[in-house]
Amino acid sequence: MPKYVYGFTEGNKDLKDLLGGKGANLAEMTNIGLPVPPGFTITTEACRHYLRHGAMPGGLEEEVGEYLAALEARMGKRLGQADDPLLVSVRSGARFSMPGMMETVLNIGLNDDSVLGLAKQSGNDRFAWDSYRRLIQMFGRTVLGIDGESFEDAMDDLKGDRDDTELETADLQRLVETFKGIVRTRAGREFPADPREQMDLAVRAVFESWNAPRAVLYRRQERIPAGLGTAVNVVAMVFGNMGPDSGTGVAFTRDPGSGRRGVYGDYLRDAQGEDVVAGIRNTVPLQELETINPEAYHELLGIMATLERHYRDLCDIEFTIERGRLWMLQTRVGKRTAEAAFRIATQLVDEGLIDMDEAVTRVTGDQLAHLMFPRFAATGGGHRLTTGMNASPGAAAGRAVFSSEQAVEVAGRGEAVILVRRETNPDDLAGMIAAHGVLTSRGGKTSHAAVVARGMGKTCVCGAEELEVDPHARRFTAPGGVVVNEGDLISIDGSTGAVYLGEVPVTASPVARYFEGGPVEDELVRAVDRVMTHADAVRRLEARANADTPEDAARARRFGALGVGLCRTEHMFLGERRRLVEDLILALGGKERQVALDALEPLQTADFAGIFGAMRGLPVTIRLIDPPLHEFLPDLTDLAVRVAVAGERAGDRDRRLLVAVRRLHEQNPMLGLRGVRLGLAIPGLFAMQVRAIAAAARQVEGARAEIMIPLVGAVQELEIVREEATGILAEAGVEAAIGTMIEVPRAALTAGQIAGAADFFSFGTNDLTQMTWGFSRDDVESAFFGRYLDLGVFGVSPFESIDRDGVGRLMRIAAEEGRRARPGLKLGICGEHGGDPDSVHFCHEIGLDYVSCSPFRVPVARLEAGRAAL
Ligand code: ADP
Ligand code: MG
Ligand code: MG
Repeated sequence: MPKYVYGFTEGNKDLKDLLGGKGANLAEMTNIGLPVPPGFTITTEACRHYLRHGAMPGGLEEEVGEYLAALEARMGKRLGQADDPLLVSVRSGARFSMPGMMETVLNIGLNDDSVLGLAKQSGNDRFAWDSYRRLIQMFGRTVLGIDGESFEDAMDDLKGDRDDTELETADLQRLVETFKGIVRTRAGREFPADPREQMDLAVRAVFESWNAPRAVLYRRQERIPAGLGTAVNVVAMVFGNMGPDSGTGVAFTRDPGSGRRGVYGDYLRDAQGEDVVAGIRNTVPLQELETINPEAYHELLGIMATLERHYRDLCDIEFTIERGRLWMLQTRVGKRTAEAAFRIATQLVDEGLIDMDEAVTRVTGDQLAHLMFPRFAATGGGHRLTTGMNASPGAAAGRAVFSSEQAVEVAGRGEAVILVRRETNPDDLAGMIAAHGVLTSRGGKTSHAAVVARGMGKTCVCGAEELEVDPHARRFTAPGGVVVNEGDLISIDGSTGAVYLGEVPVTASPVARYFEGGPVEDELVRAVDRVMTHADAVRRLEARANADTPEDAARARRFGALGVGLCRTEHMFLGERRRLVEDLILALGGKERQVALDALEPLQTADFAGIFGAMRGLPVTIRLIDPPLHEFLPDLTDLAVRVAVAGERAGDRDRRLLVAVRRLHEQNPMLGLRGVRLGLAIPGLFAMQVRAIAAAARQVEGARAEIMIPLVGAVQELEIVREEATGILAEAGVEAAIGTMIEVPRAALTAGQIAGAADFFSFGTNDLTQMTWGFSRDDVESAFFGRYLDLGVFGVSPFESIDRDGVGRLMRIAAEEGRRARPGLKLGICGEHGGDPDSVHFCHEIGLDYVSCSPFRVPVARLEAGRAAL
């Protein structure tokens, strides 16, 4: 039988999985000699057993009995003993802290007899009855599931306008009776008088609180696995509610907001446990403890210094003073803001507590991303219209526009715009680029708008379902009938999802300015600079960027990208060039086709030359045209209607176009004529692109082209394209690597063969994920992803973080077999995952050479690549 119970002297801070954070740290504090009331911890393993079987593991009761007996012996009194009771708290404590999510019951062991013993022993009747009423209240709420308000209301009635400290013994005695009555009527049972029964029921309740709805919700938000369970700590009570020389407080060893050293905390006299945070009375700043009780104050400061040295990090603590004597009740490495994380990490280096390696592991890519977003300068100054999903953080204000073209036009006049759409699609890209922010009324956090905006580092609120967006009338209607017309000013907060009417002022973040080449202007930026410099020095993975324009490429370079890992060419076929593409498709014979291709070639050459110029000296991976052809054609229904309405007068071009669109219409376009298939189906298309690449490379000194073939599933496809491309390059006298995307499962599974024709692989994990799971990225999210997350099919969307077991396994196979067939084969990733911290770590593990992500994510990828290497 496993050991289910650990005394505080038996555990340590590294046993968090088993003892939970609170238990492990209570043990650690005990072992370094800090004043912790004695107690023991029931393991998370016992909790998991209980939750699985609905019953406590065999032998647990006896084991708890032994530890309780030892505690009683040590304290010289028994739990609930009538003349001098030992009281305990029963406290939850999971592996990851879930503040306020789970339950704790204080003062266990009190009943009608022992309350008298406690009063007598302490010489303080009021305190004894206050403790008793607290027990019934907490027990009623936590263990018996009675809503807290019933108790609070009863107490408020009694208090009138008195403070809780002004309640007298007789009041508290009356309150105890009232509370017992509430238990009787609401729970249909008596409040249990037996101390051991109180304790056992509380332990059970703590275990069950693991699955309380708010705990489940919190875990999902914070990506804490659902199966861990919580430990339970049984701790001898110490009392902060014994009068003015007692009290309780919370503190940080340094400011969790700025990282500055100093005394940060709150203290409340004559109070117990939760009173400090519950805000029932006004707390005083911790500094005032110096006057109230100088001895305890200085001891506390000494302990805080000890904790910082010991944990080598910011700690937060809970303490209680019982009649002048200080007790430590909790500590942990404290949560902090993104800004404080960077500051503290470098401060600790300067103080000699950690080295730079450690400092890099103390901050995260998400925190860095957070620091790069602009923010509202101050709240207020706008009327909140609604709240949508906080899809991509930051703050943006501008004029509402309802189409991509409008966005480009208005932004072109130098005005800030917010692109408002029901949902976005690839056609909106230009508008999204031009806009300061994007607002949609449909779609979730992995919708097109959200993914693209996050990638661009652009503020986005999506799925604001209360808004009725009418793109034709160019307006939206908000709840309460507020109508926002094109040109009206609105503001969106991508960190909260709030949408405001009017302009709320925003400022650019200094960290973003720094990455743009700005100065190291303050302490925070200096900290970021030091961490980034070190991350770059230790990382093995390179960071490249996905960039389709010279501007993006230039920005990526400023952000530290060592090349372009994905330059999509399809965007170069939109806008005014659409007509040329239509010509290409309408072309009846090879000759007409060639005319269309010849018209496109110089345009493409100029596109590529721009990007080569921006990336001079660094590799640029150009992906030949990928998406289904119909994406470049008019919508079938629209066109059919147009032709029908025009009747006899319909133009010849429209009729021919309609025939072509019908012919090319596909049921499953993502599985249809696209990628290399398109290149093989339309002779001359890829050749034109390769010629344009070669011509551009000749024009730009220092150009380093890499040609990437999308959607290859069989080596034969690649061989055909490669042969043609090699000929063109040789003729032009240009050297370029030729490689392929690995995005079809068959490509991963035959990577050994494919490597024979490829100089490099780039994992296209968007398609690879969609094809491995067999669900469409564009459709599944609103259909069932929420449900799947609820059911725990996956903890996070596989489009957000690489699914290591499935998609990741294919990547491993391809990486290994590819390298075996061709040592030195270059490996990278260019899917959305390239900028996702967890996925970056995975790419490091499987030995890729680089990750490629959107320019704005490049610093995040650099940092995470550094962290992965440590
Ligand atoms: P949480 O995890 O929500 O902070 P805790 O288990 O830490 O819950 O307990 C809630 C409050 O009760 C805290 O303020 C804590 O310091 C206090 N408390 C817990 N156990 C004891 C004890 N044995 N003696 C005195 N106060 C206690
Ligand atoms: Mg606590
Ligand atoms: Mg793809």
